[in-house]
Amino acid sequence: ATHEGFDPEEIEGAIDEAGHGPLPVLAVVGRPNVGKSTLVNRIIGRREAVVQDKPGVTRDRVTYEAEWAGRRFKVVDTGGWEQDVLGLDAAVAAQAEYAIETADAVVFVVDSTVGATDTDEAVVKLLRRAGKPVVLCANKVDGQSGEADATALWSLGLGEPHPVSSLHGRGTGDMLDAVLEALPEAPEQTFGTAIGGPRRIALIGRPNVGKSSLLNKVAGEERVVVNEIAGTTRDPVDELIELGGTVWKFVDTAGIRRRVHLQEGADYYASLRTAAAVEKAEVAVVLIDTSESISVQDQRIITMAVDAGRALVVAFNKWDTLDEERRYYLEREIETELAQIAWAPRVNVSARTGRHMERLVPAIETALQGWETRVPTGRLNAFLGELVAGHPHPIRGGKQPRILFGTQAGTRPPRFVLFASGFIEAGYRRFVERRLREEFGFEGTPIHISVRVRE
Ligand code: GDP
Ligand code: GDP
Repeated sequence: ATHEGFDPEEIEGAIDEAGHGPLPVLAVVGRPNVGKSTLVNRIIGRREAVVQDKPGVTRDRVTYEAEWAGRRFKVVDTGGWEQDVLGLDAAVAAQAEYAIETADAVVFVVDSTVGATDTDEAVVKLLRRAGKPVVLCANKVDGQSGEADATALWSLGLGEPHPVSSLHGRGTGDMLDAVLEALPEAPEQTFGTAIGGPRRIALIGRPNVGKSSLLNKVAGEERVVVNEIAGTTRDPVDELIELGGTVWKFVDTAGIRRRVHLQEGADYYASLRTAAAVEKAEVAVVLIDTSESISVQDQRIITMAVDAGRALVVAFNKWDTLDEERRYYLEREIETELAQIAWAPRVNVSARTGRHMERLVPAIETALQGWETRVPTGRLNAFLGELVAGHPHPIRGGKQPRILFGTQAGTRPPRFVLFASGFIEAGYRRFVERRLREEFGFEGTPIHISVRVRE
């Protein structure tokens, strides 16, 4: 086979990159204004998250990819998260909790010009109990004279404070070396992309959509809760439930069951929990309350699951409340608001009456199957050849960019890398994705397509 002007090593590298498994996750935690966001910007450099072209879905990204000394990892920036809604201590604790649940290592940032505060001490306790590796960043050491302030932070009992100036870059290299030592080569936790054990389901959706009712219904009907696994740090977070002869793990049910009656900040807290649950799951079941209009918040939750690359099922709950009129508008809303995930299996259920509960498991199985589908390279290229011949890319500047060949670099979710002779426009990429779905299924799964252009 010809490589059509691509260097074989370049091809291999591109496939490797597109197909890489889960990257280890580093969370950056600390009080407001200690310099978390400044540090994160320094770590990711110019490698800003690529904002994809996804109309109708609000993006709310806090995770970036970074690379240091040839190793890649994800950085979770907790700096941009709302600080005020919960009160300072609760907000910082929520960040730490999120980091504990989802990260492989933590950078704990302290403002060395201020020194360790009570809030800092409280976070240290949380982090210590979790047993995750922690790198202590003594930030705002802009010059030699600040070194003593950094040394004072030995008192936190987290080992060596790394004196850093996130603003100017001083000391960040040494600190990142320490980060690499702390991070495992690959994520160790049973996150979404880890293989083995019962399949992991996250029930997500905004408050009051019926998550808790649905969980009770499925758990109740089928001779329930096999077991409760103690969370590593606190309450039991996962539940094993037998459904249709198979044991499933519903992750982070503590977040569902625990009634959070905070007046303000409940949404904020809920969104942290959602992100944590999604990280741990293979498939997300997003509940939508059909008695209300589909909201931006619903879309944001869906986006979290899609961006995390999880399989997706949409459960339209409270179906028992629908009358003809609401049903008419709901159909329209689904068309306009959820067009981006038209590929996700839908079930119309009622956690109250038990309507169509039996359809949940088949929908989940379909989504997981799509998530794991692998298209052999030969078949893919036969398909691409026909597609390109039948529907060539529009001519731009007198040239016609062509997709030359491609391969599926990974699964869970499916990831493709296409090699092209010129820039492939977003519209044509979407067309390729649509045709891929028509041809190979991929029901219930996001798919990633990256395009390499011949120099
Ligand atoms: P966050 O709330 O923890 O994300 O903090 P930011 O990154 O927004 O930083 C808060 C303030 O501290 C900003 O004014 C930054 O410019 C400043 N800052 C951050 N890092 C440093 C540093 O290393 N040295 C100095 N002097 N200021 C810094
Ligand atoms: P969560 O906050 O997402 O866990 O939602 P809950 O399970 O606590 O449900 C919120 C409210 O919606 C409760 O009053 C439930 O009784 C009600 N609810 C849940 N599912 C249904 C349903 O299928 N139909 C109707 N009519 N009400 C429901």
